Amino acid sequence: MERHVLVVFPHPDDESFAAGGTISLYTQAGIPVTYACGTLGQMGRNMGKQVFANRETMPEIRKKELQDACRVMGIQDLRLLGFHDKMLEFEDVDFVADRIEEVIRDVNPSLVITFYPEHGVHPDHNAFGRAAVRAVSRMPEEERPVIYAVAITKNRTEVLGEPDVVIDIGDVFETKLAALAAHRSQTEAMMEETKVKVQNKDAQTLQWLQFEKFYTYKWN
Ligand SMILES: [Zn+2]
Repeated sequence: MERHVLVVFPHPDDESFAAGGTISLYTQAGIPVTYACGTLGQMGRNMGKQVFANRETMPEIRKKELQDACRVMGIQDLRLLGFHDKMLEFEDVDFVADRIEEVIRDVNPSLVITFYPEHGVHPDHNAFGRAAVRAVSRMPEEERPVIYAVAITKNRTEVLGEPDVVIDIGDVFETKLAALAAHRSQTEAMMEETKVKVQNKDAQTLQWLQFEKFYTYKWN
């Protein structure tokens, strides 16, 4: 049983894609979840299926979408760390880690969910995963929360092996879909395709809606 779960991702929607089901299972079990979201995704290329956002309105729209998604997943504590989208890779890792460490000190999590450094595909994902690991690494080993790291690189199994944490989200996959749909500016077109794929029982889509997979981060 977790004491408190801290989710650390750089972009609004990362949490829903990577861990929307897992987060929902924790909140439904009464475990508090805090989401430390690095940026507002203000450089996102998607502006909606029928374009309804522009560069000026984007941050506010994505913030509102993120708040909606958090409500769907039962996240009651959302921390916006205020970094700039697509710039995280240029920030000093310790500077970013300082901000994450503040949240860790505040909520004292037993579990941190973030991107696996070097396996996040996007430079922001890698940079934020690195900073989260750095923040945890500063703690004495016996006090560190467990880290569930999300790897999405094509060569992940070659390098890391099979993920050791496989969470069955079958009971909450509709909540995950609703959280994804809340990020409307980014996901609207994709959600329509997903609905069709679910209706057609597309094997890959059904698999995606059945399991979320993580690697327990190993210190060495
Ligand atoms: Zn992202």
